[in-house]
Amino acid sequence: MKTHNFSAGPCILPQEVFKKSSEAILDFENSLSLIEISHRSKAFENVMNKSISLVKELLNLPTGYSVLFLQGGASLQFLMVPYNLMKLNGSAAYLNTGTWSKKAINEAKLFGNTIIVGDSSDKNFNYIPKNYTVPENIDYFHCTSNNTIFGTQIKNFPNISSPMVCDMSSDIFSRKININNFDIIYAGAQKNMGPAGATMVIIKNDILNKTNRDIPTMLNYQTHINKESMFNTPPVFSIYVSMLTLQWLKDKGGIDYIEKINNEKANLLYQEIDRNSLFKGIANLADRSNMNVTFSMLDQEKEKIFEDECSKTKISGIKGHRSVGGYRASIYNAMPIDSIKVLIDVMQKVEKL
Ligand SMILES: *Cc1c(COP(=O)(O)O)cnc(C)c1O
Repeated sequence: MKTHNFSAGPCILPQEVFKKSSEAILDFENSLSLIEISHRSKAFENVMNKSISLVKELLNLPTGYSVLFLQGGASLQFLMVPYNLMKLNGSAAYLNTGTWSKKAINEAKLFGNTIIVGDSSDKNFNYIPKNYTVPENIDYFHCTSNNTIFGTQIKNFPNISSPMVCDMSSDIFSRKININNFDIIYAGAQKNMGPAGATMVIIKNDILNKTNRDIPTMLNYQTHINKESMFNTPPVFSIYVSMLTLQWLKDKGGIDYIEKINNEKANLLYQEIDRNSLFKGIANLADRSNMNVTFSMLDQEKEKIFEDECSKTKISGIKGHRSVGGYRASIYNAMPIDSIKVLIDVMQKVEKL
């Protein structure tokens, strides 16, 4: 029986991507493995170039932006962003929408004045703050587009004059965005793009080199732009699998196509949560994420029955994060609608018991 992987990350990827990447481990070029060839070889150079051009194509990237594949996860970006953008005695504005935002804020505080312009911690981050003001004359504004743990998603980004930086780890390539509004976008690969190990960073080139800071070589975006993500050995396997996933997405019809499907998938599940007398959604209606659907059971005595039915049908990874409780169904790009229907069937079955 097939396992339905609703895990928040590392997460489901297309089956054909798993198949192709396992083949490449055994035989990539002339019977060498993908993970034993030189990253300076022509074969891997092609992989890197293809990955970058797929990112550019899928996101419709304007000129003047660089695409990097770095290591250290999204978590390293929490400090690379202020290191590269916050001037000495400068300031940055942050929107605090959950665990990952808070971690980014904690790093920024090491570099300068960090202003929290909106904060939803009063309701355990079940909503996205609105009508906040981003002060002028800051070095940048930082937000998290999708709050993986709490199941909220920014639907409207603010219109600001300062550079905008966004952690898009858990909804990159899931919906259309206007890249022109952003100056840095970063995303750990393991949510919607590939296996852990690579972090994609998109940078508007002209926002760099304005801080008068001495930045260590490896933490300086300019190093990686100059060396085209090859300053040191890149995470070859993670980049290759990301390339396959992006190619899969392109073949399906790109972001326009996947956004439509993602809306359908999320609507189907939220409709059932709202209809079913046993369940309720956790996130504020207007801010519900299309990637991570958080919900709980009204009658805690039924939780065991629901969980048993889930394991019987091989539904995996839907336990909510410990800071929220309840359940979380992560329905990233590669999650087939049929798996969501299996979950809905279980919810309906338990309601009738
Ligand atoms: C998972 C996640 C992170 C952390 O990513 P790492 O690559 O593990 O450092 C950061 N931000 C968001 C929104 C995430 O979902």
